[in-house]
Amino acid sequence: MLSREATGDVIHRFAEILKFPTISAPDGFSLEPFHNMRSYSQTAWSNVFSNLELEIFGGASILLKWQGDLSQTPVMLAAHQDVVPVGQLEDWSFDPFGGKVSEGRICGRGSIDYKCGYAGMLEAVSLLISQGYKPKRTVYLAFGHDEEIGGLAGAKAIADNFLQRGIQCSSVLDEGGYIYSESDGSTTAELAIAEKGYASFQLTSFATQGHSSVPPDKTAIGSLASAIVLLENTPMPLPEVPLEIKSSRWLETTIAPTILSAGCKENVLPAEAKVVVNTRPSPGISVAQVQSFIQKLVKHLDISVTLLDNASVSEASIVSNVSTRDFLVMKQSIQEVIPCGTGFRCGIFPAATDSRRYCKVAENVYRFMPVHLDHRGIGALHSVDESISIADYLRCVNFYARYISRVAR
Ligand SMILES: [Zn+2]
Repeated sequence: MLSREATGDVIHRFAEILKFPTISAPDGFSLEPFHNMRSYSQTAWSNVFSNLELEIFGGASILLKWQGDLSQTPVMLAAHQDVVPVGQLEDWSFDPFGGKVSEGRICGRGSIDYKCGYAGMLEAVSLLISQGYKPKRTVYLAFGHDEEIGGLAGAKAIADNFLQRGIQCSSVLDEGGYIYSESDGSTTAELAIAEKGYASFQLTSFATQGHSSVPPDKTAIGSLASAIVLLENTPMPLPEVPLEIKSSRWLETTIAPTILSAGCKENVLPAEAKVVVNTRPSPGISVAQVQSFIQKLVKHLDISVTLLDNASVSEASIVSNVSTRDFLVMKQSIQEVIPCGTGFRCGIFPAATDSRRYCKVAENVYRFMPVHLDHRGIGALHSVDESISIADYLRCVNFYARYISRVAR
């Protein structure tokens, strides 16, 4: 599809994008790297920015509109520009913002999560424009800048704006599906048609404060420990889901203890012990159902269960339809670009992404990028030494170009 010279340019532009430290953080962050990345993008993919309408949300989120026929339902592709912090720099074997290309890989924070989407989509649209392609359906490219901290200023603002203007898309393509390595050595491309919810609860156990030399049968810490063991050993019943995701490995609602606190002195029995459990409700299971499941389970232990009501709380997504035209052309495009012998299946993404914000402005949300995850699986995304193979990045560009040219036809 691309000449060797053009391929070199495609890789170079992506490596340049990885040099912008577009880190988002809950306690505030600079928008300057985002502005610089946009300036670079406007030069690197100038035909995209001269042919598509640009709107900015929340100071740095980008919405690009590729106008089609007004009578047709639009379609959206989404990617986020922000990345998570790098952690300990000395743990990395390369500069996370150096844009290094070596041994067949393009290295840097955000290379998979999710600048391959940002740059890959711009590259694909640029390619289509250069080939004279004109979409019949309007194509939106939505690039949020705060996905890693909840997406309120970016994806949510864009979705709210669509609602106000009465714009409804047939589907959104976002992150959340990858090419996984299986234990038997095979690989499978998984298109996620649903996403789990998110809710944390604080469990507090109560007892009488006292002297540790004469402990009662029941202590606050002991009761809380029993509750944690119970939660770990009692899976929540599986939800009723469509056949396509019945065998998904992440079907179960998970409940995991993450923060523990109790006691202030070694010889004092505390009056309270607390644990925060983070839960990921499966599609079809509500946050309220998870709370009542936990409450019933620990009722006999005199423990209170409170929802930590913050911006991260979200219900599980709907399960998207697999018989729509958008899905079928997406599946066809995936099957054409993945390596020979790679399987295909639908699945559930276990974490939360910006796509939950777009559920209200699209009938269906699909999550996929043709990128191989290493043995760390999804764990690799926010870890050290994030990198993508050159072959996978070119696959992304190829996939987006094929998908857009078909879906907007
Ligand atoms: Zn991401």
